[in-house]
Amino acid sequence: MKNKKILVVEDEQDIADLLLLHLADLSDDVELAADGHAGLRLATSRHWDLIVLDLRLPGPDGLEICRAVRLKDTYTPILMLTSKSSELDRVLGLELGADDYMTKPFSVLELMARVRAIFRQVEAIENESRFSTDRIRIGPLLINSAARVVKKGDDQVDLTAREFDLLLHFATHPGRVFRRSELLDRVWGHGHEGYEHTVNSHINRLRSKIEDNPADPACIVTVWGVGYKLDDSGMRESTR
Ligand code: CA
Repeated sequence: MKNKKILVVEDEQDIADLLLLHLADLSDDVELAADGHAGLRLATSRHWDLIVLDLRLPGPDGLEICRAVRLKDTYTPILMLTSKSSELDRVLGLELGADDYMTKPFSVLELMARVRAIFRQVEAIENESRFSTDRIRIGPLLINSAARVVKKGDDQVDLTAREFDLLLHFATHPGRVFRRSELLDRVWGHGHEGYEHTVNSHINRLRSKIEDNPADPACIVTVWGVGYKLDDSGMRESTR
């Protein structure tokens, strides 16, 4: 967790000191903004893995900063600090989407546990999205690029390494037409002493394994006079 960038926006010096002291255990990249102006500027101008944000601040308050952070393209977790539970009601009522809230006075141990929980949650989401890009679905085909496994429905499709690379190349560029020479370059590699009929024969073998009707392919289609492309729309329709 040492690479996490944390911004603390807190005007009360003793609380700020306490936060900086303990957050240093989680990250060596913790910055303090001591009022709303600095808070708003820092919060919106840089990437943060977490903003610990006091609600009541001189200058723009925590709600204003929260609102500005939520307008950014990238998602920034926010842990909001409020002085009274009546303020917490206000924060919750506005549904500004702070990730967590704590009411002062808070226990430092509790705060650290919440911060760790936010980081774990973010990491879990990131891992999940990384995992899902490993899996590409085209109609009835499910390609797991990490495991190099292709399934058609419930059945595993037995592909050679080259056939798999070829399918994966099409799957990651849906709709794009590739000339045979381009496929030789990209799938077989630069300098490959291949012939374009090598591409044709691999495409035909791949089709015989993945297409419902290899004579009338719906997935990897021939673009006459040019080459081949993956027609994912046809495959999707064929599964309906
Ligand atoms: Ca304050």
